[in-house]
Amino acid sequence: MTWSTLRSKQPRVADILSGTLRNDRLAHAYLFSGPKGTLKKEIATHLAKSLFCLEATHDACGQCMNCLRIDSGNHPNVYAIAPDGQSIKIDQVRELRNEMKKRSVEQTEHKVYILEHVDKMTVQAANSLLKFLEEPPRGVVAILTTENIHAILPTILSRCITIPFAPLPAEEVALELQAEGVPAGIANVACQITTHLDGARQLSQSEWFAQLRTMVIQLGKEIKQRGTQALFTIQDQFQKNDKYKEELPLFLDLLILWLRDILYVQTGRQSRLVNIDQQDVLEGQALIWTQADILRGIQAAMETRNRIERNVNPQLALERLVLLLQEG
Ligand SMILES: [Zn+2]
Repeated sequence: MTWSTLRSKQPRVADILSGTLRNDRLAHAYLFSGPKGTLKKEIATHLAKSLFCLEATHDACGQCMNCLRIDSGNHPNVYAIAPDGQSIKIDQVRELRNEMKKRSVEQTEHKVYILEHVDKMTVQAANSLLKFLEEPPRGVVAILTTENIHAILPTILSRCITIPFAPLPAEEVALELQAEGVPAGIANVACQITTHLDGARQLSQSEWFAQLRTMVIQLGKEIKQRGTQALFTIQDQFQKNDKYKEELPLFLDLLILWLRDILYVQTGRQSRLVNIDQQDVLEGQALIWTQADILRGIQAAMETRNRIERNVNPQLALERLVLLLQEG
């Protein structure tokens, strides 16, 4: 990981922080704010490494003794805390303050602390941190992270430079999963459902996710050829397993992605396919669906999703969907 590889995942953040390092304009407190899975902790750690790395300048090699010690939590000048159970407690902040005040054995200009989920502090802990932010010891850099900026005291906010983290681009999450060995088709589809790396990883590893996708592919084929039979097939599978019922919204999302892919094949935009491992099957289905059918199908799937959210019986909603898909 370098600032330049991070640029493809968090372009604005990487630009701001690497620029700050190059110009030696580091502030004494940052708040990294953004949804789960947007690399806040990873980038906080990379920033810390960039200050202590023995090999790279304004960047981190990830290999040298300092980089490795920061990774394993054993660097004397980098201190990380996260909630102990539900919250960050006053004792944790006290210990943090003590650590930051200790004179370093290793001569260095900086000390860094990374405080995750700073919105989850007890009132006492927040007050103690606030005092520390008001009178920061020389050279101390605070990196606070949160998924919920609205829950943070304005007094803390006003003492930090807020760096917003955007959700990662879907393609980046897909590449990450593929690097972990997830097949390209599954990785792509999972990242369209959620761009949170953890969530997408969980989806792509679960058996039912692959099963739901198989059902969608089957439905796409059968609905035009075997009519109501397709409904029975689907209902049969849903009834075999309670989980399927809970997962009907996910099934519908997968159906929408699938229908959209058929449309991409029909309009010659294969480069935009999500189910990239199913190109042959999609080409076959592109011959049996008309564009009007597909657009109506997408519409029907979206409506069904809304109906389920409004607590319509899932089975009735599904039957209605299949009837709508068959029309035309
Ligand atoms: Zn290094």
